[in-house]
Amino acid sequence: MDKQQEYVLRAIEERDVRFIRLWFTDVLGVLKSVAIAPAELEGAFIEGIGFDGSSIEGLSRVSESDLILRPDPSTFQILPWRGGKHGTARMFCDILTPDGESSPADPRNVLKRALAEAADAGFTFYTHPEIEFYLFKALENETDPLIPIDNAGYFDHVARGQGHDFRRAAITLLESMGISVEFSHHETGPGQNEIDLRYADALSTADNIMTFRSVVKEVSIEQGFTASFMPKPLAGQPGSGMHTHLSLFEGDTNAFYEPGGEYQLSTTGRAFIAGLLHHAAEITAVTNQFVNSYKRLWGGQEAPSYRCWGHNNRSALVRVPMYKPNKGQSARVEYRGLDAAANPYLAFAVMLRAGLKGVQEAYQLPEEAEDNVWELSDTERRALGIDPLPGSLNEAVAVMERSELVAETLGEQVFTHFLANKRQEWTDYRAQVTPYELARIGLI
Ligand code: GLN
Ligand code: MG
Ligand code: MG
Ligand code: MG
Repeated sequence: MDKQQEYVLRAIEERDVRFIRLWFTDVLGVLKSVAIAPAELEGAFIEGIGFDGSSIEGLSRVSESDLILRPDPSTFQILPWRGGKHGTARMFCDILTPDGESSPADPRNVLKRALAEAADAGFTFYTHPEIEFYLFKALENETDPLIPIDNAGYFDHVARGQGHDFRRAAITLLESMGISVEFSHHETGPGQNEIDLRYADALSTADNIMTFRSVVKEVSIEQGFTASFMPKPLAGQPGSGMHTHLSLFEGDTNAFYEPGGEYQLSTTGRAFIAGLLHHAAEITAVTNQFVNSYKRLWGGQEAPSYRCWGHNNRSALVRVPMYKPNKGQSARVEYRGLDAAANPYLAFAVMLRAGLKGVQEAYQLPEEAEDNVWELSDTERRALGIDPLPGSLNEAVAVMERSELVAETLGEQVFTHFLANKRQEWTDYRAQVTPYELARIGLI
């Protein structure tokens, strides 16, 4: 038993915790949870807790279904919404195979492998997500119409606003779990909100995003709303992105920072952006994993559709944000493709590997896009070398299938399973006859 494990055992006793939830995610990024009694915890730390992985999306093949959960004591937190006496705590877990190896199917392990690759090259990877989501009047059924809780817009300050109270309650819970929030505001769409988590190492951020989604769901139930991270819930309204700011550190030094460089960006920073752009199409099935994700990417409203970068250009896929000259440590690049329904572990892993590849192979950064690229014609974009992102899940899957980078990053098992799951989603979707089609040609 190491010090952290002992600390957790003590905390559980002192705080009279009765339920310990072991958290992990499936390949699509859906949170899974099993509760154990305090008496089981010591064993869980030493040997892990066995479970049947075959019923969980992407975790194992039926013939080798036994898996083991081992809680990561550094992620121990009391769940504040299960408060009071006899509380509940949670820890994120690593998934192991029966012989004690890290399971190749565990999304957390996929990210850890990518982080180890970055560490070999001397880098730590930090991320800072801007998470957007909608609040709707409570739904009874999934097919009920979505009615936003307000009609406010970007940065609106609504007196007695429900969104206001909602964000305040969610942030209070997050902070009490050690998750720092940097900004929060009403977003552009009716009922749409954004909460930005403070930057942290990518594994902590991915864990924090999973916690964030739970917190938002809990608070929405408490306040009588339905919260949704769906990438494009309302046609004609903005989608919900998860723009993520990325940086590499070498020890305590931000490797993207170079005083005097263009936008104070170092060669490493430029090559990282070049890697993101070069591999953007291949990683899109992972960063935008649902049929619905492409309705956001191609629905305008500030979602990126083309592979280009810029400084103050909101039509660009990668943006170099402005920062104060004396704040070199905050040099970073913002990847704007990612949506709020992605599996954060897998998405961070592929973004990191794409950028790192650019650094390792010294990719050259193309010219920045100075115009609003949505307003250019196809010919103009082609002349500038600006390619579109995949137009649908089907296209994204077709590009991903041929990607060595994504295959290597996800590992064979996750790669194969993910593709099979997404091909099936496309097949199911293609079989639908939609209200749009009926309205368009129903009476033809
Ligand atoms: N909602 C937009 C998107 O889907 C982003 C809007 C913004 O944050 N400026 O990416
Ligand atoms: Mg923002
Ligand atoms: Mg936003
Ligand atoms: Mg942004």
